[in-house]
Amino acid sequence: MQFNSNFNDIAENYLFAEVAKRAAEYSKAHPDKKIIKLGIGDVTLPLVPEVIKALHDGAEDMSKAETFKGYGPYEGYEFLRESIQNYYKAYGVELALDEIFVSDGAKSDLGNILDIFSKDNTVLVPDPVYPVYVDTNLMAGRKIIFANANGENGFLPMPDYTVNADIIYICSPNNPTGAAYTKAQLKEWVDYALKKNAVILFDAAYECFIEDDKLARSVFQIEGAEKCAIEFCSFSKIAGFTGTRCGYTVVPKALEKDGFSANKMWLRRQATKFNGVPYIVQKGAAAVFSEQGRKEIAHNLSYYKNNAKIIAQCMDGLGIWYTGGKNSPYIWLKCPDGMKSWQFFDFLLNNAQVVGTPGAGFGNNGEGYFRLTAFGSEANTREAVARIKSILKK
Ligand code: PLP
Repeated sequence: MQFNSNFNDIAENYLFAEVAKRAAEYSKAHPDKKIIKLGIGDVTLPLVPEVIKALHDGAEDMSKAETFKGYGPYEGYEFLRESIQNYYKAYGVELALDEIFVSDGAKSDLGNILDIFSKDNTVLVPDPVYPVYVDTNLMAGRKIIFANANGENGFLPMPDYTVNADIIYICSPNNPTGAAYTKAQLKEWVDYALKKNAVILFDAAYECFIEDDKLARSVFQIEGAEKCAIEFCSFSKIAGFTGTRCGYTVVPKALEKDGFSANKMWLRRQATKFNGVPYIVQKGAAAVFSEQGRKEIAHNLSYYKNNAKIIAQCMDGLGIWYTGGKNSPYIWLKCPDGMKSWQFFDFLLNNAQVVGTPGAGFGNNGEGYFRLTAFGSEANTREAVARIKSILKK
């Protein structure tokens, strides 16, 4: 037996562990000081009442022989896929039901999708980046190249035709940078992918934060994307399902090459390795897109959006450069006074008792930047902002 030696190539997952360690050490040394955490990417508001009701109804169904459900369809129940189909239709994207696959969250499928692609593909990921794209490909031994996201391009790198890539990751609105591509910019990526015979793996986990019509909510709003893209989305951020676990993946039937169909391969892969998402959870997820569910989640989303605005306004007032804050729950700011990411982390912790996430943990280009999130409570966000202002005001 030999273990997969590619695991040697994966960096220690130390970012959030180190953040927690430094915060804990500070707390121990200063038990009287209250730390505010604006570093987490997890949501804090509970599930909305309409979802809770549907979860109860689902549990009730499981209690009676007539409505009990055993193994469900690999691709998810039709009632949920129909509500996802209608959600897309509302912003002009027509999907066939059998192009929609229900998942237990975007993270799993972002990793699992690699089963249908050859090991020999070259992978293009932006730097900085959500670490899952890099680590899943390193585990499989694929070659990874990076697209530079930086202050000059507003953390939105555009295609470079001198670079050849086969699998391209795009996350928009982006974690960690909060930057989001316009439809016109995304069209350039779709054109590049079509030209290079590449596939775009589009992570739309934060699409629900988009308010500006010029920005893309889905890669399938772009002409030609059905021939070169797969989209991953999630109920985690839109409806607080980070612990409940449900998402969906759209694999268009038009994505074909050399006699292979991505859609057929993905269904085959799921039928082999996946037995579906719990019926009860799918009932809850379908309620997110019901009329009442949408009203209720809109309330939660505007709560987080308002937090993002509070942080963004603070940065505006201090003259600090940032991306995100609008159309995103993340604020990605340039550390003031030329500080490095971890230096700024310690500075904020020691002087304002505010914890964020050092940008350097997301890739080389993240050095000198810092991520704050809007997923905390409004009271904590306001308090954190007041403290930041008081220590940074010139
Ligand atoms: N994609 C991005 C960019 C994320 O930031 C996250 C979670 O923070 C996920 C995917 C994971 O989503 P899920 O909870 O659906 O697995």
